[in-house]
Amino acid sequence: MGLEEVKNLYVHFPFCRGKCTYCALHSRAGTSPAARAEYVQRLVKALGSLPAHGPFSTVYFGGGTPALCDLRPLFDALEPGPQCEFTVELHPLDATPDALKSLKAGGVNRISMGVQALDDATLADMRRGCTVAEAERAFRLVKTCFDNAGIDLITGYPPPKAGGRSWDDGFSRLWARLGTWGLRHCSVYSLILEDDSLLGRRLRNGTAKEYGLPADDEVMDRLAAISRFLKSLGLERYEISNYAAPGFECRHNLATWRGEDYIGLGEGAHGRIGRLRTRNWWGPGVEPPGAHPLPPECEEVSPEQDELERRIFSLRTRDGLDASGRPEWEPILGRFAAEGLLTPPRLNGRRPAYRLTERGAEVCDSILAELV
Ligand code: SF4
Repeated sequence: MGLEEVKNLYVHFPFCRGKCTYCALHSRAGTSPAARAEYVQRLVKALGSLPAHGPFSTVYFGGGTPALCDLRPLFDALEPGPQCEFTVELHPLDATPDALKSLKAGGVNRISMGVQALDDATLADMRRGCTVAEAERAFRLVKTCFDNAGIDLITGYPPPKAGGRSWDDGFSRLWARLGTWGLRHCSVYSLILEDDSLLGRRLRNGTAKEYGLPADDEVMDRLAAISRFLKSLGLERYEISNYAAPGFECRHNLATWRGEDYIGLGEGAHGRIGRLRTRNWWGPGVEPPGAHPLPPECEEVSPEQDELERRIFSLRTRDGLDASGRPEWEPILGRFAAEGLLTPPRLNGRRPAYRLTERGAEVCDSILAELV
């Protein structure tokens, strides 16, 4: 597929107010407005370098914290059509009436807000810079402008202090608060202890005893409870970590899991264009910023690897994994089905597909690892 035919665009913004303790994403704090404006100008140039094509079906501004930048030059350069799903990730502190008005005017129609925790002690330990009450106020304000809005949460974060509450104490009470938010979407991620994060370093440096990291089976029980709770709000699990009201599934993420191509622009962005895999890419002929810490990458994978990558991630979704033409997968998938981690193959369209069971969803990475 040529670049001009790619219908999905991801744009990365590597700026944050501060660094959250659990985060190892490519982002930095303490940047100046001038540096952010320069970054946006470079993105405008990157967009201008793309060959002419029809409107994008999905656009996703992620980060980092996109709203730390003045996004209007990008809105002007993009001109998203009315059918485009245009998502911007927001920090609760971004949600001011003026900012929301500007996003709306720019064509944004979907908001993903990072809330991450539902108790103040955990939010403070995470260094999120806001309280639950502030996040709730922010989300309610977002909902006055954007019906299609959801939040991200992390589960399994350790209790903030030695002898503190168990990480899931008060689960029902805390999560019950969400019942009136009007969520259309909710992403729930299990904490991944990244070596490069502040939390990872703290644990490595021997202060782990101050934390009571939950055991894996505790996390699984909690995720099962979360799944039941979100279902009671009308949000169905459509991918391992994602729940949505019917019709509010994130089209951009679904497109990438289903193997569609996507252009990734900016420092931390990944992209897939035909057999090309890109990272820190700025469009044809545009140089990445000089002082960034990531090397630009553009790698061509083999046709076999390309086919494998496009197919395999659909196991994460409700679509399930189409195993046709892959006889070597059958014994592996059959074994996982016998263990109750996959459903026996059922038709998805005209092809039989294996789907994750609730238990299987918690060990998806292990299943995928056996297939590659
Ligand atoms: S979690 Fe998000 S807001 Fe926090 S440092 Fe990472 S990218 Fe920035």
